[in-house]
Amino acid sequence: MNNQGIRWVILLGLTAVIGILCFQGYWMTTNYNSKREIIQQQIRIILYKVAEGIAESNQSTLPLHNLITQRSSNYYIVNINDHIDAFQLENLILEEMKRVGLELDFEYAIYDCERDEMVYGQYCSIADLPQNSASASLQKYDHFDYYFGVRFPQLALAIAGEMSLTLVLSGLLLITLIFFGTAIYTILYQRKYSERQSDFINNMTHELKTPLSSIKIAGDTFLNDALIQGDARLHKYAQIVSEQSGRLNDHVEKILDIARLERDLVKLNNESVNLVKLLDRIVLQYNHAPNEKTVRIHYEHEVDEQNILADPLHLSNVFYNLIDNAIKYCRESARITLKLSRTANSTIVSVSDNGLGIASKELVKIFDKFYRIPTGNVHDTKGFGLGLYYVHQIVKLHSWHIQVESIVDKGSTFTITIPDNKSFQK
Ligand code: ADP
Repeated sequence: MNNQGIRWVILLGLTAVIGILCFQGYWMTTNYNSKREIIQQQIRIILYKVAEGIAESNQSTLPLHNLITQRSSNYYIVNINDHIDAFQLENLILEEMKRVGLELDFEYAIYDCERDEMVYGQYCSIADLPQNSASASLQKYDHFDYYFGVRFPQLALAIAGEMSLTLVLSGLLLITLIFFGTAIYTILYQRKYSERQSDFINNMTHELKTPLSSIKIAGDTFLNDALIQGDARLHKYAQIVSEQSGRLNDHVEKILDIARLERDLVKLNNESVNLVKLLDRIVLQYNHAPNEKTVRIHYEHEVDEQNILADPLHLSNVFYNLIDNAIKYCRESARITLKLSRTANSTIVSVSDNGLGIASKELVKIFDKFYRIPTGNVHDTKGFGLGLYYVHQIVKLHSWHIQVESIVDKGSTFTITIPDNKSFQK
């Protein structure tokens, strides 16, 4: 994936994370509010019933307005407008809470208008904890003369308890998000590390280029020197120097080409290329080059002239790579067919061989960078796993299409489709 792709993935990931967090926050707040609303409603019902009970036993009437006032999130004032029996009050509250099914500790206090303070404070624990008389500290309320106050100290905890499933799900989500963040961090770190590594390889390869070219030039000069040509032993050594420095140079070029492709530095110098002639030249070179194996390339072309818009250098490299592979991955004698054909709106070039073939499960991987099909020790061919990667990248850059068909032990066919709208015909 290129930098742009990674940036998009991270951006989309972050947007998704922020979206999920916002949704989660909204969900939790709504959930909390509705749970709080329900419990507060229950408390109001309880307090109303308690007030009714006291009024009934006092044979008085309840005030029509401001009977119950909520002073804070967990503190209520009930204006009875008549004297209050503390023992009766506690019993009524406990009774009503039991009836509604609300299990909450509470503390209450009664306002003494003569002393102008809260008295008879009591803390009632549902879990039968030792009761401590703490309620005298409940705030007074100056607007009424006969009232009592009730506080539910564990109200927030009770609401949170009601939301246990929501909290567990939120915890799981948080763990997922932390995992996602760690994964993104690791990807970015690994990417930076591999970028540094490939920078180092590219710089080093680049540094090798100049001395290698000098060795090649010196080797060629030796090779063509009359004195060296007269000495069979020296000539052989000069030939080795020239050949091997040429090979090393090719490897260096290949690595640099890949590095350029990765950084989007390859700019195609497209021009009109006569494909029939270009392939002809390539076949000629192979048929005349000495090779350890017997190589026979059969070239078929449906048309005698076919111009396409392409970069001739990279185009030639594509076919060199495909034919090199066809030779490399065959047994003693390579029979290769290079075929150029036409459909209504495209030119098709295929390279078929009678080689080892490729198992179908490997077909999807052979265009990956550095991928080589594991062969054990059966077939000892050298390579970097870069040839087909290069081919694929160049085909993609031209907006063409490549596909491969293969049967193990029978051979493989690589087919490149060049649509007419991506090239032009003569
Ligand atoms: P390299 O040849 O350097 O290993 P390539 O990218 O050119 O790398 O090829 C990747 C792999 O695909 C090779 O290791 C080889 O196993 C397989 N392969 C490529 N071309 C052929 C072919 N014509 N026949 C059989 N196998 C092939």
